[in-house]
Amino acid sequence: SPPRPRPHVVLVASPGAGHLIPMAELARRLAEQHGFAPTLVTFTTDLSSPEEAMSCLPDSLATRPTIALPPVQIDDLPHDTPIEILLFELVRRSVPNLRALLRSIDGPIAALVPDFFCSEALPLAAELGVPGFLFVPSNLAALALMRRLVDLHHGVDVAPGAEYHDMPENLELPGGVALRRADLPVSFQSSKEPVYARLLEEGRRYLSADGFLVNSFYEMEPATGEELRQAAERGAFPPVFAVGPFVRSRSNDDAASSACIIYWLDLQPTGSVVYVSFGSGGSLSVEQTAELAAGLEASGHRFLWVVRMPTLDGNEKSGRERSDDPLAWLPEGFLERTKGRGLAVAAWAPQVRVLSHPATAVFVSHCGWNSSLESVSSGVPMVALPPRAAEQRMNAVILEQSVGVALRPRVREDHQIDADGGVVARDEIAAVLKELMEGDKGRYVRRQAGDLQQAAALAWTPEGSSRRALEEVAAAWKSALGNK
Ligand code: UDP
Repeated sequence: SPPRPRPHVVLVASPGAGHLIPMAELARRLAEQHGFAPTLVTFTTDLSSPEEAMSCLPDSLATRPTIALPPVQIDDLPHDTPIEILLFELVRRSVPNLRALLRSIDGPIAALVPDFFCSEALPLAAELGVPGFLFVPSNLAALALMRRLVDLHHGVDVAPGAEYHDMPENLELPGGVALRRADLPVSFQSSKEPVYARLLEEGRRYLSADGFLVNSFYEMEPATGEELRQAAERGAFPPVFAVGPFVRSRSNDDAASSACIIYWLDLQPTGSVVYVSFGSGGSLSVEQTAELAAGLEASGHRFLWVVRMPTLDGNEKSGRERSDDPLAWLPEGFLERTKGRGLAVAAWAPQVRVLSHPATAVFVSHCGWNSSLESVSSGVPMVALPPRAAEQRMNAVILEQSVGVALRPRVREDHQIDADGGVVARDEIAAVLKELMEGDKGRYVRRQAGDLQQAAALAWTPEGSSRRALEEVAAAWKSALGNK
């Protein structure tokens, strides 16, 4: 008899490299280890540049179908619409196109896996009679936070003009994580913001998922994992499977500029370099850039800094005649004074290779989840420097308080540089760097980072937690298919 066709798994990635990269890695594992035929569906939009996202994808992905849904209009929304609402709306309006795509797939579909911004696609799984799993490119804590939001609004109608409850000023998450409201992702901070109601709507839809696949691993967030497991046992929440960490392969970083960076690292002593980078979009204010530069200079350590254009306020835009070269925004004379021990590059570095290089000691990071997992996978401890009001603040708190692989420099009360008090001063940065490189507390964090690196590697060995979790899911999908 002819071989049975490989069952399809359709994965839907919302815009943004940070969502696409781990999902592509999930697709690869589903194909290589479980014999599925994955199709990765993306959106056509100028919300994020698809070229940039695509250039981050592992080469292996080029060989399997990636289908971009046709563009849909969202330009009727007011120009100040928050990005989350634009994303949710993009997904909502794309559902008919996704339905058509699913119907056009030849052969059995084993599961539909939209990411956490695409829960609007979940009803399509029910229509097809296949399992619908949400992929969370973030951590277990983010899912626990969404649960809290839903619980907080138990019995509250989502309707125009409805009164929503604010999240508590101090929120305790499992694992001893104490979050201030200001540390929550911005859209969770105020019930008055339009995106808050939309999040609640999303969160309620989460309850209809057949399960979650999360880009984290049990050993990194055991307390949250337990809380979610117990909730699932009580039937209060769908089952959650931690199947990460999904870290992009290193193969696509072979540009000439990357070679120069690695060449420079090769010349540095083992464990001597502070790597500084703030993700694919992250940039600092002009003040924070200056403080960071001075802090690096004062620390006396070697560094590799991926410099992005700072965020500019109106004054700076009109006041200074500077180029669009990010390096031109560094303080006067900084590059000359640190010549020989510091390398500043504009815009991009081959991060996974940099973090796994023996010369790299410490990562000063905005704590995007991909960056965090890459750091963990390389055993590199972090200095958490999320830009103010960024969604990564919560990751920073988790990484410091519960995981123990990061130190967070504090904003000093007597040294508030801007009105928001959001700038971390140079001496604090220098002190934290010194602590992490040389101090006792730093030694603990370095050891933690080493231990967690081992746990991360084990998670994907044959008896490892993430491997077993994905096997359990794959087996369930296959048996559901067999029962049809
Ligand atoms: N990245 C990189 N080089 C850079 C900056 C970022 O390779 O100079 C990669 C990084 O390795 C990570 C991704 O871009 O995989 C950034 O994702 P993350 O979730 O950390 O942050 P985001 O960009 O979503 O804020």
